[in-house]
Amino acid sequence: MIVTISSRHMDVTPAMKTFAEQKANKLIKYYDLIQEIEVIFDAGKDRTKDTLVIGGGTVLQPLVYAAVAEAMLGAPVGESRLFFCTSAGGFKQRPVLLTPSAKAMALGALETIDRAIELGPLAPSPAEHACTWCEFRPVCGPGETQRVARKRAELSADLVFLRSRP
Ligand code: SF4
Repeated sequence: MIVTISSRHMDVTPAMKTFAEQKANKLIKYYDLIQEIEVIFDAGKDRTKDTLVIGGGTVLQPLVYAAVAEAMLGAPVGESRLFFCTSAGGFKQRPVLLTPSAKAMALGALETIDRAIELGPLAPSPAEHACTWCEFRPVCGPGETQRVARKRAELSADLVFLRSRP
């Protein structure tokens, strides 16, 4: 199994690297078909809300990863968590309960994305201020916030509804 360790906005000490490798290597005990694990340390802030379920479609990892774990392990998953393990992140945990309504919301988000791809181009529609701290700004360019603001009126009702989800 290959374990790759990388970081964004911070340096990774040898102790952190060793810790991550040890934890990652333990996962093979639970699922022996894992071939590769990528660990990314990031010093980003916690921008989620207490009511987080899918964050307007911008935070799908907790529910999607939990659904994958359920399918792989053949056992129900009750809760998924985001960990903010840096001073910038406030060393917080953000739990997301896997209730039937949360799962339905995640499925609805994926269906919205599927429809957008099927019916036409999936235009960028970042949440308010998302471009400000996004690491892909060098790719999108500095004018993306203004361009998106001009296009916001053209967003599909689907996408507007998705953005309203907690
Ligand atoms: S900079 Fe680009 S990728 Fe990042 S949030 Fe804005 S539109 Fe999306």
